Amino acid sequence: MLPKNDSQNMIQLSDRLLGMEESATLAMSKKSRELKQSGKDIISLSLGEPDFFTPDFIKAAAKKAIDENYTKYTPVSGYDDLREAIADKFNRDNRLPYKKENIVVSTGAKQSIINVVMSVMNAGDECIIPAPYWVSYVEMVKVAEGVPVIVSASIDQDFKITPAQLEAAITPKSKLMIFSTPCNPTGSVYTKEELAALAKIIAKYPQLLVICDEIYEHIRFEGNHESLAQFPEVFEQVVTVNGVSKAWAMTGWRLGYIGAPKYIAEACEKIQGQFTSATCSITQRATISAVSSKPEVLNEMVTAFKNRRDLVLDLLNEIPGLKTNLPKGAFYVFPDISSFFGKSHGEHVINNSGEMAMYLLSEALVAVVGGDAFGDNNCIRFSYATSEDILTEALSRIKLALAKLN
Ligand code: PMP
Ligand code: GLU
Repeated sequence: MLPKNDSQNMIQLSDRLLGMEESATLAMSKKSRELKQSGKDIISLSLGEPDFFTPDFIKAAAKKAIDENYTKYTPVSGYDDLREAIADKFNRDNRLPYKKENIVVSTGAKQSIINVVMSVMNAGDECIIPAPYWVSYVEMVKVAEGVPVIVSASIDQDFKITPAQLEAAITPKSKLMIFSTPCNPTGSVYTKEELAALAKIIAKYPQLLVICDEIYEHIRFEGNHESLAQFPEVFEQVVTVNGVSKAWAMTGWRLGYIGAPKYIAEACEKIQGQFTSATCSITQRATISAVSSKPEVLNEMVTAFKNRRDLVLDLLNEIPGLKTNLPKGAFYVFPDISSFFGKSHGEHVINNSGEMAMYLLSEALVAVVGGDAFGDNNCIRFSYATSEDILTEALSRIKLALAKLN
């Protein structure tokens, strides 16, 4: 629950804190963990976290780092050889000509993004956020006193905005844009042609900086990963965000990074130097071995995710009233559940995505996240980062629960 100011509090909480929403993904996973601990047979499809373990060669690198006494403060932006390895990775996998000076390593991609937001936004500046969006973008912009400008993309356009929509949203106050490809929560992936068309618009507005969040780069089911920064006309206007949480199953290790114009990288280093310093030294050493590996190492995991996506889509298609797109990356599906609005079962009346999420939690014992937290109240998000058996059981429970609504 959000803390509230009331007369019992000695200290008045800040407007900044009170104006902020709690992360819906983390709130739902906390709730399902608590219900599980109280003995309820909950299946959680709420958190975007791979169920795989971190590969052994990365764990071995971390153990070696401890034995070799990599236990001190590191440079704020990360060890030099890590930043060089990340620059090499960007060149090798993404054809992005970043150098060490363009790289800042942070405590998760989350911190990478807030560093950039805090570096560029002044009060009243606008940030364009295509919806559906990942939960934290809007709150980060609000904390920086910026104004989120939401540009909605419907399921009929595969949840991707068009160049015309982008251009219509740009004003003299536009400072930033944030989006992810592959996208959390929709799994949509912008093609090279679609990014090229967005780049053409972006290049017309040199005062606009774009954060392209590519943390699901390796989890995609067809074609190559395409980065916005590959187009030379916008290279100096793009910050490419990535990290090791998803592809390398390292969510708890806390490491994200940016490739950015040098002045933005320096700004992020300055902010991070005051707030957290560098991320964990041992994680940094382990990450060198992750980012230096060819992405083919991940083929087995990606195939498992693709099989799960196919299974979940097959099972969802058997449920009347749901509409889905075909997610081409990440590990989420974001079905439209609006055909159930106005229906009820017992004390549950469903009029929006949050009520549907609560209904599925209490009736099906399956935790999902309501789409309102992602900027689309017609949808709910399932994470399929769990085994096929669990997914099959979860979807059969959901099917039964939805059939009870009338
Ligand atoms: N961006 C997106 C789109 C995400 O889904 C997440 C979730 N973890 C993050 C950034 C943050 O990742 P990290 O664990 O590296 O902070
Ligand atoms: N990014 C993941 C998700 O969307 C992890 C939770 C979070 O960091 O918000 O579920």
